[in-house]
Amino acid sequence: MSRKKQSRGVCVYCGQEMAKGGMIKHLSTCTRRRAIIEQADHKPGKTETIYHLRVQDAGSSDFWLDLEMCGRAKLKDLDYYLRGIWLECCGHLSQFSIGGWGGEEIAMKRQIQEVFEPGVELTHIYDFGTSSETLIKAVGVREGKPNSSHPIALMARNIPPEERCMECERPGAWLCIECLIEEDVWGTLCDTHVKAHPHEDYGEPLPLVNSPRLGMCGYSGPAEPPY
Ligand SMILES: [Zn+2]
Ligand SMILES: [Zn+2]
Ligand SMILES: [Zn+2]
Ligand SMILES: [Zn+2]
Repeated sequence: MSRKKQSRGVCVYCGQEMAKGGMIKHLSTCTRRRAIIEQADHKPGKTETIYHLRVQDAGSSDFWLDLEMCGRAKLKDLDYYLRGIWLECCGHLSQFSIGGWGGEEIAMKRQIQEVFEPGVELTHIYDFGTSSETLIKAVGVREGKPNSSHPIALMARNIPPEERCMECERPGAWLCIECLIEEDVWGTLCDTHVKAHPHEDYGEPLPLVNSPRLGMCGYSGPAEPPY
């Protein structure tokens, strides 16, 4: 389960891959992104405050997103997006708060621009049983016109953490839920070893997907952005 290398991600605009630590700076200077922003700003319509949000799984910093979000959009839009790209298994409750568990709950109808100030970090909890915790921080703000008709645009995302087969150390592609639940082992398997793996009480092994919720409450993906 050890993941030592710094996580890497890909810029959605130019396709460049880089370390997580360099992505925020890259996005502010990315020439492809700048061109798209300039184009949008020349279109008719109102200017608004647009937030750069760094989203990160609280348990594994290898799972992260850089999102751009309209200031007038609401937390429920962010909740919808997080469920789509990372979390949704069976319609559990969720909430935003400041100060994590037991912190001050922030209502879903609140606007992004009312909530995010410098230094504020929000915690999103999905499912109060087998919970997934996500941390969200505003790392940049700009005045401009949104370059998407949706309240949120994906700017960058982590590359899936490298997983090794528990049997042979080759790249893993599957996760055994029985290993995870009954033996407390992160049971990653390659295409070869998945065939002969004896466990079947929890169904077929799940394909690895790019989400921190994989395997929790049976979550199996698809871990794709909702739009
Ligand atoms: Zn770029
Ligand atoms: Zn569930
Ligand atoms: Zn193997
Ligand atoms: Zn197993």
